[in-house]
Amino acid sequence: MVRYVGVKHATGLVASVGIERFIIGLAQYIEDDFRRWPQFEKSARIASHSADGVIELMPASDGELYGFKYVNGHPINTRRGLSTVTAFGVLSDVSTGYPLLLSEMTVLTALRTAATSALAAKHLARKDSRVMAIIGLGAQSEFQAIAFKALLGIRHLRVFDSDPAATEKFVDNLERLGFAIDVAASSADAVIGADIITTVTADKTNATVLSDNMVGAGVHLNAVGGDCPGKTELQRDVLLRSDVFVEFPEQTRIEGEIQQMGPDFPVTELWQVITGEAPGRRSAKQITLFDSVGFAIEDFSTLRYVYDQTQGTGFYSDLDLLAEPSDPKDLFGMLSRPAQQTSRPLLAAVEA
Ligand code: NAD
Repeated sequence: MVRYVGVKHATGLVASVGIERFIIGLAQYIEDDFRRWPQFEKSARIASHSADGVIELMPASDGELYGFKYVNGHPINTRRGLSTVTAFGVLSDVSTGYPLLLSEMTVLTALRTAATSALAAKHLARKDSRVMAIIGLGAQSEFQAIAFKALLGIRHLRVFDSDPAATEKFVDNLERLGFAIDVAASSADAVIGADIITTVTADKTNATVLSDNMVGAGVHLNAVGGDCPGKTELQRDVLLRSDVFVEFPEQTRIEGEIQQMGPDFPVTELWQVITGEAPGRRSAKQITLFDSVGFAIEDFSTLRYVYDQTQGTGFYSDLDLLAEPSDPKDLFGMLSRPAQQTSRPLLAAVEA
């Protein structure tokens, strides 16, 4: 049997742990895995692009466990009453190849993206950061705000979305969680006085959510929404003034903000900042930019965390995903002999 964590169990688990505590624990798992980065088998995700979006497979392995996530990105979907991003993932035992866990990952992706953003900011933003601007108030946005509160103590938000309904939803969801929220009239208005700027919009185009004149000295930029070829949020000049930190350069050069720059544009890998092998912020005036695209190791950490967190709880069910014949060489017996695990032999069903 494979442990199955569906949406009800995932949301129930997060509620029972408490979302801030859940994100803090998840960020710790991600940080632990970033610290042992060289141990991982890594590759840029495999993307299948279409006119309206992308479907991606994201694998990673540490030699003992193997994880992958299936995720889509379709900015047009909200106009169809569907989500921009949905996902599920699998964690397997490398020694047998057997899956251990199948989990929903739409909610978990929002949590892990936010946890990774806040983890990056913990290492890169000025320690005296108090105010965060968020531009784009869709599905990911509340998770970003809560992660920055949990890991950096950010309580003051300045926010903007071109859709007033999204803004209203965001304020309604977060007001009671202890945030002071200023609703801005534009992106330019939102970033005034912000120590950290999170851009988390969805548009399948090279957008200019942040132009160079909007970014002051000392700011930390958390650019989340530019994560596909031809889909960026920052004006190129912003990158020229920033020190850029990335997850996996081979993937980010294709998908991130730095797709706008040449192949030799200098970047620092976030894991090296976390281990102390590379410097993070060196001055209060420096502009740091986390060019987030989402990397497979973050999903691997999330699956590992969910597997550990659900152990001994009621937040999963057993799924008969795997055929497990009593004689492993007699797979056919499962079809022909009802006693072998299937409630109704498939052959009988086909013949009926
Ligand atoms: P969503 O469609 O739910 O929300 C996006 C919001 O951005 C919408 O409310 C929309 O009105 C707003 N918006 C679009 N253009 C804008 C603009 N120019 N100015 C202000 N607001 C604007 O999408 P989501 O699920 O919240 O995802 C947001 C983005 O984050 C997507 O691009 C998605 O692909 C990306 N994402 C990245 C990661 C990562 O790891 N980096 C993970 C998940 C999602």
